[in-house]
Amino acid sequence: MVLQDLGRRINAAVTDLTRSPNLDEKQFDSMLKEISNALVEADVNIKLVATLRTSIKRTAVYDELVKLVDPHAEPFKPRKGKPNVIMFVGLQGSGKTTSCTKLARWYQARGFKACLVCADTFRAGAFDQLKQNATKAKIPYYGSLTQTDPVIVAREGVEKFKKERFDLIIVDTSGRHQQEKELFAEMSQIQAAVSPDQTIMVLDATIGQAAEAQSRAFKDTADFGAIIITKTDGAAAGGGAISAVAATHTPIVFIGTGEHLLDLDRFDPRAFVSKLLGMGDMAGLVEHVQSLKLDQKDTLKHIVEGVFTVRDLRDQLSNVMKMGPLSKMAGMIPGSAL
Ligand code: GDP
Repeated sequence: MVLQDLGRRINAAVTDLTRSPNLDEKQFDSMLKEISNALVEADVNIKLVATLRTSIKRTAVYDELVKLVDPHAEPFKPRKGKPNVIMFVGLQGSGKTTSCTKLARWYQARGFKACLVCADTFRAGAFDQLKQNATKAKIPYYGSLTQTDPVIVAREGVEKFKKERFDLIIVDTSGRHQQEKELFAEMSQIQAAVSPDQTIMVLDATIGQAAEAQSRAFKDTADFGAIIITKTDGAAAGGGAISAVAATHTPIVFIGTGEHLLDLDRFDPRAFVSKLLGMGDMAGLVEHVQSLKLDQKDTLKHIVEGVFTVRDLRDQLSNVMKMGPLSKMAGMIPGSAL
């Protein structure tokens, strides 16, 4: 088959697909089949055609998923000179308290005066945990060891910090799930008491199938405007996050990538979907290694010269330490599903 004919057949197959009234998997498959047949008839190696077919399918799925989770949304922009309130909601253990502190530090690093209010009076030790995190991050906090009504604590904390002219007041609430009707009602009361400018739902990447129902329930009651996915450094692919976005039409703005204060990244839909599909995140890996500014100059010179000193060994070890957990690095490499 001459090249011109091949081009014509591929064009026709794509046009057929775009003209089809209901674009579904069957239509897509038939387009792929037509293109593959044309390529085989043009003497393209059959194995290569098969690989191409898989790769086109994969790219299409990738693009669709990226489109679905791409937030086209920026993190909340506090108005300067006015107090702004962000309230956190989510299931117990999802990573709310940890993420509250991470977010406060994120805003603090960008010049906002940020603080934390612990409205979790339900779980013993919640205030202590927030206190410890906040102290480590040097962020002012408010909570009570004696007041058992979270609505009162939330209101008092927000009022205090408003008077003290903080730019950003982040309110942490206790974990709850949709079957706990009273706790859901309480969440509404806290929201009414502090009138947040933004409510954020925290979702653990390991939640899986339950994500859809839970996030829908939180959306119905607390109408959150942003999502943070935590524990993306773990083994979970994070498919639940996609269900949550699809069910609530709410953007993911940040992801938690570890237990430490700085382990909070802006959500990058391409990197997220690549990891989900097991395609790795080479761009992220390269960026990560470059950001470490590893100093290799002397060592490389020494290796060439045949002298590898104890100092070189120390430098190499310190470079490895800088890279962070190996599991995190491995997760960015295509094909190394963890
Ligand atoms: P809360 O009950 O929703 O307030 O959850 P916590 O903030 O107490 O977090 C529960 C556990 O998850 C703690 O052990 C945190 O250190 C851990 N955690 C939170 N975020 C992350 C994350 O992004 N990655 C990892 N690996 N652990 C996290």
